[in-house]
Amino acid sequence: MQDANKSTKDTLTARIFIGLLAGFACGILIHYVGRLWPESLVSVFLNDNLVSGVFHVVGQIFVNVLKLMIVPLVLVSLVCGVASTQEVRSLGRLGIKTFVLYVATTAVAVALALLVAQLVQPGVGIALDENVAFNPAPPPPLSEMLIGIFPSNPIKAMSEGNMLQVIVFAILLGLALIHTGEHGQRITKVFFDLNVVVMKMVHLIMLMAPYGVFVLVAKVFAEQGPNILLGLGKYVFCVLFTLLLHVVLVYGSILQLLARVNPVMFLRKMWMALISAFSTASSAATMPITLEIVEKRLGVRNSVASFTIPLGTTVNMDGTAIMQGVATVFIAGAYGVELGLGDFLTVILTATLASIGTAAVPGVGMITLAMVLGQVGLPVEAIGMILGVDRILDMCRTMVNVTGDAAVTCAVARSEQALDMTVFNDPAADTR
Ligand code: ASP
Repeated sequence: MQDANKSTKDTLTARIFIGLLAGFACGILIHYVGRLWPESLVSVFLNDNLVSGVFHVVGQIFVNVLKLMIVPLVLVSLVCGVASTQEVRSLGRLGIKTFVLYVATTAVAVALALLVAQLVQPGVGIALDENVAFNPAPPPPLSEMLIGIFPSNPIKAMSEGNMLQVIVFAILLGLALIHTGEHGQRITKVFFDLNVVVMKMVHLIMLMAPYGVFVLVAKVFAEQGPNILLGLGKYVFCVLFTLLLHVVLVYGSILQLLARVNPVMFLRKMWMALISAFSTASSAATMPITLEIVEKRLGVRNSVASFTIPLGTTVNMDGTAIMQGVATVFIAGAYGVELGLGDFLTVILTATLASIGTAAVPGVGMITLAMVLGQVGLPVEAIGMILGVDRILDMCRTMVNVTGDAAVTCAVARSEQALDMTVFNDPAADTR
């Protein structure tokens, strides 16, 4: 029975991977058919009916059902996590450690991005296009952001999918359950049962992943094609190179030195979450999968993962911060503006804050980039220059955002003796 289960799961991973590759191939094919015979019937059918019709509908359904799980999962899983905490004080310690690591890795990410971009100078010599325009809404002030963490209405927080507010409510509920004796224990049991059911729902939704991944990836590549990346080659190179550098250097060190685990095994197990992050370009939509992998495949105890993963999904966006660092240097170069040390420090600070304030959905990093540019006096409309390539870069940086959440989670779990090394080192643990 267990073997049958394992082999079904193995096939699912393989199918998701095939979905990804087929999505690339199909998208690029449709893109070139459209370019070679733009007015032909085939091309109109492919673009209007297939890409904007079927692919769009199936893709959105997949993303919606993944998002559907966010609120139930954060609420139920975190209540269970808090309720199973033996020592309430350890919650505070956990929170501080996690937050410090999230902020520190983001600040290092921006610094790396600035360094690489300064060396490559991606913007110098780029012809400015007078027609670019981008008018984002002004970001909310810091005070509003702080107040906004605390919900005045839990149902509203849930209906709006405000993850930080749901986290606050779940922690409070979990704490109350610990302190209400028998009454609390009865309700805690219900939450533990609910947790199993909610996890099962995630499993069921994952059966749709091969198709979801296929249509999402095919749609992006059919609409944009790979050539779009070439026009801004140096910028794209800087972003992708720094993303890779950050994963290898920073997450590699965190995993080896703090979590004391094998980074290669870590990445092997994160595979499915990474494909989901790439195809949905949303760490929030990917969160149900990340949480499942971190608990079941990496062996992190629920009491840690249920807190660090939803928090990381909301506040930890190293990939986004890297794009913002590179974009700032790129735009400064294109406008012939010299950035000084003070500007670099300002960028590190604002990009770190902006990444905390960036909602985990596609493209939002661009909006908070406006905040970063504004701080160093660069024209916000210049974002229009990089908007064209942003979707594909967004897919890549979301993979890094998700990896960062899981790497920090492993490190924090290790320090709390909440990382089961037998599960982590077992390549077949909960394989799909
Ligand atoms: N799409 C990113 C994420 O969900 C956020 C961004 O960079 O726009 O993590």
